[in-house]
Amino acid sequence: LAISSITSFANSTRKDRSGIMDKVINLDHGDPTMYEQFWRQMGDKTTIIIPGWQSMSYFSDPTSICWFLEPEFAKEVVRLHNVVGNAVTQGRHIVVGTGSSQLILAALYALSSHDSDKPISVVSAVPYYSSYPSMTDYQKSGLYKWGGDAESFDKDEPYIELVTSPNNPDGYIRKSIVNRNQGLLVHDLAYYWPQYTPISSATDYDLTLFTVSKSTGHAGMRIGWALVKDREVAKKMTKFIELNTIGVSKDSQLRAAKVLKTVSDCEEEKSENGVESFFKYSYRMMEQRWKLLREAVDSGDLFSLPKFSSAFCTFLNQESETQPAFAWLKCEGDIEDCESFLRGHKILTRGGKQFGASSKYVRISMLDTNDNFMHLIDRLSTIQTKQQQ
Ligand code: PMP
Repeated sequence: LAISSITSFANSTRKDRSGIMDKVINLDHGDPTMYEQFWRQMGDKTTIIIPGWQSMSYFSDPTSICWFLEPEFAKEVVRLHNVVGNAVTQGRHIVVGTGSSQLILAALYALSSHDSDKPISVVSAVPYYSSYPSMTDYQKSGLYKWGGDAESFDKDEPYIELVTSPNNPDGYIRKSIVNRNQGLLVHDLAYYWPQYTPISSATDYDLTLFTVSKSTGHAGMRIGWALVKDREVAKKMTKFIELNTIGVSKDSQLRAAKVLKTVSDCEEEKSENGVESFFKYSYRMMEQRWKLLREAVDSGDLFSLPKFSSAFCTFLNQESETQPAFAWLKCEGDIEDCESFLRGHKILTRGGKQFGASSKYVRISMLDTNDNFMHLIDRLSTIQTKQQQ
């Protein structure tokens, strides 16, 4: 697969793109539209046809704890983890969810004590994924309750810690930080894929969440999966999904199975028939984008970005860079509200406060279309040039 499109947009002059300085650039959400181009070029390789009589039953696999899990999807999940080497699947129960969002709630339901007269605290270290507090509290559950920053959690009682690694919004690798014996951990590894971070080892946690939204970019399919060590926890998560949506769309699971299969096939066939690896392609896309973003940010003093060191990636078999799905941009100097400042320049981002952090920070999606991304680069460079004049 050619990646000429990446270089052609980077090489187009600012003049080519003039007349768009008034355009509102919305990079608030992490919508992974960047990947569309790759899948377009794959043509019919991921097309599936589902006749009207197929997938009619509620049930998929009565022998599995997760009875609505499509065996073909489960098989491709295991195969992909083996190919990438980012998670141990042996001895794990797979629970499929309508996105990993549903699985976060299923995990909270499964890990909380249903006899307790008090909700269990749910914590995560600042800056945490902005949806965690609202997802936890929007139904005012009696089972669990948002407890804020894991760093300042000091109650001597059970708790659930959500560990996001690499982290949304800042991209750093994380470990649990409360670390007490009453802690129940949920590892949200939505971004533990080679295009974003070096794969250092196969993770081996009790409860791990993944999603196609960030791995292959198929957010609209609404498919996530959990790898669960404990049988009872897997059963309870399945029960939650049964009560919530009586299972997960089979059509989506079959489509996801085909996409994951295509990714693994590309890796195993390698260059034999000229099909390029999805992860190598997306690694190069992210590399290019981060290079352009750092150049734009370094051209003045208004902004700064987190710094990362490279590390050996067991999947790419080389030193590789951390190039997160989001840029955690800081406004330097006396700009106190970075989100408002950028909104004034028609760049929509998500402000630091929503992640429990300072309003000097914003989160910017790095996964949007080439056009929007290049508009961002132009706009940031222009803001800094004007500042210097
Ligand atoms: N966890 C994290 C850390 C995320 O960033 C996201 C998506 N932004 C999700 C979970 C939810 O993803 P989905 O429901 O699309 O699988």
